[in-house]
Amino acid sequence: MTQFQNTLSFAKQMDEKDSLKAFRHQFHLPLQKNGKPYIYLCGNSLGLQPKSTRAAIEQELKDWENHGVEGHFHAKNPWMPYHEFLTEAMAKVVGAKPIEVVVMNTLSVNLHLMMVSFYRPTAKRHKILIEFDAFPSDKYAVASQIKFHGFDPSESLIELKAREGEECIRMEDIEAVIEAEGEEIALIMIGNTNYYTGQFFDMKHITALGHAKGCKVGFDCAHGAGNVALNLHDSGADFAVWCSYKYLNSGPGSLGGCFVHERHAYDKTLPRFEGWWGHNKQTRFGMRDGFDPIPGVEAWQLSNPPILSMAAIKASLEVFMEAGMENLRKKAVVLTGYLEFLIDEMNNNRIKIITPRDPKQRGCQLSIQVKDADKTLFNQITEAGVIADWREPDVIRVAPIPLYNSFEDVYRFVEVLETKI
Ligand SMILES: *Cc1c(COP(=O)(O)O)cnc(C)c1O
Repeated sequence: MTQFQNTLSFAKQMDEKDSLKAFRHQFHLPLQKNGKPYIYLCGNSLGLQPKSTRAAIEQELKDWENHGVEGHFHAKNPWMPYHEFLTEAMAKVVGAKPIEVVVMNTLSVNLHLMMVSFYRPTAKRHKILIEFDAFPSDKYAVASQIKFHGFDPSESLIELKAREGEECIRMEDIEAVIEAEGEEIALIMIGNTNYYTGQFFDMKHITALGHAKGCKVGFDCAHGAGNVALNLHDSGADFAVWCSYKYLNSGPGSLGGCFVHERHAYDKTLPRFEGWWGHNKQTRFGMRDGFDPIPGVEAWQLSNPPILSMAAIKASLEVFMEAGMENLRKKAVVLTGYLEFLIDEMNNNRIKIITPRDPKQRGCQLSIQVKDADKTLFNQITEAGVIADWREPDVIRVAPIPLYNSFEDVYRFVEVLETKI
């Protein structure tokens, strides 16, 4: 355990000792009007741009300029198999085997595609279990799937709430609901790192509980991918989805990732929505054969993908491979721990950290609840050069990102918070 100190010189010392400190210079830090960089603590919402992204996209523009359609085969990175160039690195980031991971579509789209295959309600087993504080898009997605199958969300959607006066969900409450209603639950679909509280759930445990009752289990890892060690393969989950523009720094609206566990890789009976990009690569252009799915999650691909967006993902994943997920996570534990320490040092009883105190139950993010605050406080913080994230009614979410945030950033943020509160 590092003994933290509440001084700028200590923060600077920590930065000096940080073996990942050079990575900050590989990113564009947004600038304030005065020309100084913002303290950017919003990488959980939109990750910063790696400086290598521009060249990666320009390469594809150049190849399109020079080759036209021939770029599918003759581009420096041929477009036909382009998604395959991302698979290995993305699989490493989420702890999965390459056959289990593909980059395609966007998160909410992938969530629907996964539910087409893994939410197969029957009269007896038709429920979906989700956390009450789930991201709105996830709730719309599960509720609309329930309705699509002719069921009623008021009966088929179980929304798990934290206990009165608590913000995070207790594992024992998840256990209890699966125990009580497991036989009626068709799908457990939980945000593995909750976007609001920052709580990180033990996916392996939840999956085991669900499978023991015959439920399918999937996770939305939007706030987990590139942030925590997901170990998706070992979790045993049936599927997972995530986006690449938050912790994965791949640009606004960039493509999402999708995981389907290896146990489903060769199952040709699984119902799914099909498109030509999921078809056997050898005969894809034959155009006349019946659908012959590629083994693994690639079978869920529908369309030929947007290469310009994939180029940004490729550039970003290269940075991740260079830094190493384990190293990043190690730094994140200390960096977020330092943020927590400084907030506690403020000793202000209007402030409450609603994110779990246990580093194993959270990623980078801390969600700070400020009693009787409104958005004015947040606006003042922004005015003072901090980019964070405000959630009504009273929560500031801050995420120091190990790739580009420093201990000094964290120190200066708390300094600003202290003067504005
Ligand atoms: C960011 C986020 C989304 C966004 O979905 P898109 O389809 O990428 O727009 C969905 N769910 C969760 C949990 C998120 O954090």
